Amino acid sequence: MNFDISRKKMVDTQIIARGIKDRRVIEAMLKTPRHLFVQEAMASQAYNDTSLPIGDKQTISQPHMVALMTEMLELAGSETVLEIGTGSGYQAAVLSCLARRVCTIERIPSLAAKARRLFDTLGLTNIAMKIDDGTVGWAAEAPFDAIIVTAGAPDIPEALVSQLAAGGRLIIPVGDQTDQELVRLVKNEDGTLSQEKSVACRFVRLIGKDGWSENQ
Ligand code: SAM
Repeated sequence: MNFDISRKKMVDTQIIARGIKDRRVIEAMLKTPRHLFVQEAMASQAYNDTSLPIGDKQTISQPHMVALMTEMLELAGSETVLEIGTGSGYQAAVLSCLARRVCTIERIPSLAAKARRLFDTLGLTNIAMKIDDGTVGWAAEAPFDAIIVTAGAPDIPEALVSQLAAGGRLIIPVGDQTDQELVRLVKNEDGTLSQEKSVACRFVRLIGKDGWSENQ
């Protein structure tokens, strides 16, 4: 199987054809080897138009959703970005092509360990990762120019809003435990907040202090 050809086809048919326009996001999706971030047995499905299981009841998001959320962050290259929900590490790897520094948090140690190995193998030296509850953010690395949450939340965690820089963008799926809407929050230069809803989506749960509780 030629993964380069599959990846190019994925970008043409799932990313560009569905309206993603940011040239830098398209280049990052063309460059990032999604087949390395899925389970080996599923490598042949890596460029399909779907999310896939990555173990521990978690998923790698659909490629179009990764591109859409990334485009909504409006990255120019100089930013520090926080991701909550490292999962396979794929989204962080895409972000690492587009920002100066990526900080990513995962609560499940086995997933974090796999992602860290991949970041090392691929030489993605601008990614910092920690195992923690991402709903409280990463105060020591704040403020962030952009924050992306890749798990579904009941509400927007307050700590993430407070760790957003002036002018910063926060993208998060908000809703119930199965269905959410993408929300884009902007902290304006004067500190006021603007919020708009985007597409419907379906993410695994954000579990933590300001998310769902594990047994809910
Ligand atoms: N961004 C990932 C990727 O590229 O593969 C996909 C993320 S998956 C849809 C959601 C991830 O969020 C899971 O790995 C889950 O363990 C993680 N997660 C859920 N709640 C979390 C929390 N409070 N802090 C950090 N990670 C969390």
